[in-house]
Amino acid sequence: MHTIQIDAQIPGGNIIVKAIDDSQVLLNREMRDTKGNWIYWKFRAVFPAAAEFTFHFDDGCCLTSRGPAVSLDKGKSWAWNCPRFDLKAESFSFTADYAGQEVWFCQCIPYMESNLNEYLATKAGQSITRLELCRSRKGRSVELLRIGNGPQKVFLSSRHHCQESMATYALEGILSEVAAHPQKYPEFTFWAVPFVDKDGVEDGDQGKNRMPHDHARDYGPNAIYPEVRAIMELIHREKPVLVFDMHCPWVRNGDSEHVYFVGQADARLQAGIDRFSAIIAREAPPDFPTDPRDNIPFGQGWNNSRNYEQGSPIVPWCASLPWQPSAQSIEIPFANTHEVTVTADSARHLGNALARSIKLYLEA
Ligand SMILES: [Zn+2]
Repeated sequence: MHTIQIDAQIPGGNIIVKAIDDSQVLLNREMRDTKGNWIYWKFRAVFPAAAEFTFHFDDGCCLTSRGPAVSLDKGKSWAWNCPRFDLKAESFSFTADYAGQEVWFCQCIPYMESNLNEYLATKAGQSITRLELCRSRKGRSVELLRIGNGPQKVFLSSRHHCQESMATYALEGILSEVAAHPQKYPEFTFWAVPFVDKDGVEDGDQGKNRMPHDHARDYGPNAIYPEVRAIMELIHREKPVLVFDMHCPWVRNGDSEHVYFVGQADARLQAGIDRFSAIIAREAPPDFPTDPRDNIPFGQGWNNSRNYEQGSPIVPWCASLPWQPSAQSIEIPFANTHEVTVTADSARHLGNALARSIKLYLEA
């Protein structure tokens, strides 16, 4: 039997092949400029035969509670459809249908620039204006989207941590809800940056804990990333009444398997989070439920001042803005919220509900 071929030469690719022994493959993910361990990997495999192969990760937590995401069509569509995985062993097995079959595997269901381009070509997407926020450090165009023309401005962002793809499916869902019902949102203008760390998204970096600090610790007078400087300028110019920053948590276990809002030290911001998370819990779809009891108060777990020593995220930065906007950070899990398995589509449904909740929240 020929050897299985594995590489990362695909958009967002990230893998280290440590050893291949017949049908057993030993893998690790590339940390690149991330300090410590993080969770992202994505690769393609070309199978030499119709046979079962087992992929092991040998260095920490790499699989969601639903195993790997699998694409049989070179990244166009993804599903949690790998039936055989072992979370204790951090491994999964896949049976190829035929010699020469190409299959892509990923830690998450990816959302790349190609997904955004596809979306902006749909009926909903065509009512969204595509602008350029700035150029990334590597010269890529960083998208800025706008929909609506009302006086109340809302700012949306995802991918301050570049691998947090489910957040962008939900962001798309927010825009789609507004696009589908413009008569319900005459008071609003939505501005959105879907890929804050654009280079990290396309290059397949971890992004999280990037040295000297990541995009989500860059807000303030000494910002080092062009995207963050441009976002701060945009926010000062447009003066949004709500800044809504969207993330995904760790790969699995505990708080990483449900939606939550990140509690804030600032009492005014926290009051907004309490009110909003009660609204979204009522609006959330059955395929992506939320519960305000899952929120993580400031000072609990990882959410303490030590976590922000490297610099400020966008939300606490907003606490000091003179027009006192609401600002919130939501964490949207990769594969399941409690017992409910989630997908690209259910994340879009959650986004639809977030748009309705934003309207209810701001009109109250
Ligand atoms: Zn994040």
